[in-house]
Amino acid sequence: MAGEPQADCLFCKIAAGDVPATIVRETETTLAFRDISPQAPTHVLVIPKVHYSDAAELAAAEPVIAGDVLREAGQVAADEKVDGTGYRIVFNTGPGAGQTVFHAHAHVLGGRDLQRLV
Ligand code: AMP
Ligand code: ZN
Repeated sequence: MAGEPQADCLFCKIAAGDVPATIVRETETTLAFRDISPQAPTHVLVIPKVHYSDAAELAAAEPVIAGDVLREAGQVAADEKVDGTGYRIVFNTGPGAGQTVFHAHAHVLGGRDLQRLV
């Protein structure tokens, strides 16, 4: 069923506490943890605890939780003190855009010069 945990999903396992992660923030609906392969001094992933394959599917089904993910991304940036210099929130969507884990997640990147992308 939509939103239900998926047995083969790494981020569902992290959300359930079955796979360890370095958790930096948690709310009723979201979890934020450090990326295992950081691409910047701050590289934190924010996930909804419910399973949707990407950010757009999450927003379509659970717009309040999608908002929670964005708000938490901002809180991570503030906690990490990168909000002053600037940071980037990235939602890779689909294999052609580099998505490798098909459970919606925001990358929060900061702490170095981030080249303008678009
Ligand atoms: P994406 O490629 O946008 O789907 O992002 C998936 C991210 O998850 C990548 O940046 C990986 O480095 C990260 N990742 C994969 N496995 C883990 C893990 N066990 N703990 C934390 N981050 C992970
Ligand atoms: Zn999942």
